[in-house]
Amino acid sequence: MELFDSHVHYEDAQFKEDRDERLEYLRNTDVKYILNCCSDVEVFDTVMEIVDKYDFAYGSIGIHPHWTEETPADYLEKVRELAKHPKIVAIGEMGLDYFWNEPKDLQKRIFKEQLELAKELDMPVIIHDREAHEDVIEILEEYRPKGVIHRYSGPVDILQRAFDIGMYVSFNNDLTYPEWNAAPIACLMVTPWDRLLIETDCPYAAPYERKDDRCEADDVKTVVQMIAELRGVSEEFVAQKSMENALRVYEINK
Ligand SMILES: [Zn+2]
Repeated sequence: MELFDSHVHYEDAQFKEDRDERLEYLRNTDVKYILNCCSDVEVFDTVMEIVDKYDFAYGSIGIHPHWTEETPADYLEKVRELAKHPKIVAIGEMGLDYFWNEPKDLQKRIFKEQLELAKELDMPVIIHDREAHEDVIEILEEYRPKGVIHRYSGPVDILQRAFDIGMYVSFNNDLTYPEWNAAPIACLMVTPWDRLLIETDCPYAAPYERKDDRCEADDVKTVVQMIAELRGVSEEFVAQKSMENALRVYEINK
C-alpha cells in the first residue's frame, strides 16, 4: 500500500531533537509522500530544508490564523518568493480560527491576502477552519480557490458548499475519537471519492488508543482503516483514491 499524508508538521518544535531520524524512518513505512504544511514565518526555513532534503517531501508556505499577530508586514513577499520552489506545491495553511483570540479582522485580512496570492500564482491552498465555518465558506465562495480544507469537522452543508466550488477535504485520526467523531464521520460519509485526502496533522492528533503521544505520518494508516471500515471498501481502495487526489490537487506529476 502507498500512502500520501497530505498534512504533516515535521517543522514543529516537537521534532526538534529527532526530525531527521523520524523523516528517514518513513522510508520503511507505507508512507510514500508527505506534504509538510507551514504555519508561520519562523518555520519557513525549516519547511524549505525538509523539502530540499527528502525526495518524498513536498511543502506549503503560508500563515496559519493562530500566528497572524506575530506576522511581519513583509510576509507576503517572502511567501511569494519561496512559493517559486518546485517542491512548494500549495499556499497555507491559512484560514480562520475562532477558538483562539487573534483579532478576527486581522485573521480575515491575512487569509484574503494569501487567497489573492494563490490566485495570482495559480496554486492550490490549504484551509484551516476552527469554529469559523460560516465565515470561512463565505470567503472561499468569494475567492473560489482550488485546494483542500484540512481536518474539517463542521456542518455537512457547509462542506457541500466547498465541494460545489471544487474543493477537496482531508480527514485525520479525529475519526478514531468516540467523543467527537460524529461530525467528521458525517462529513466523511458524503465525501465523493474523487475529493478525499488523508492526513495526520502530526505531531498533533494521534490515534485514539495513543491519544497523549506525539504522532507521525505513519499514523495515517489508522485513518485509512477507519475510512475503509466506515465506507465499506478496502484499505487499498482508500489508499489509491487519496493518493490520486493528492497528486491531482497539488499538481504533482508522478
Ligand atoms: Zn496544520
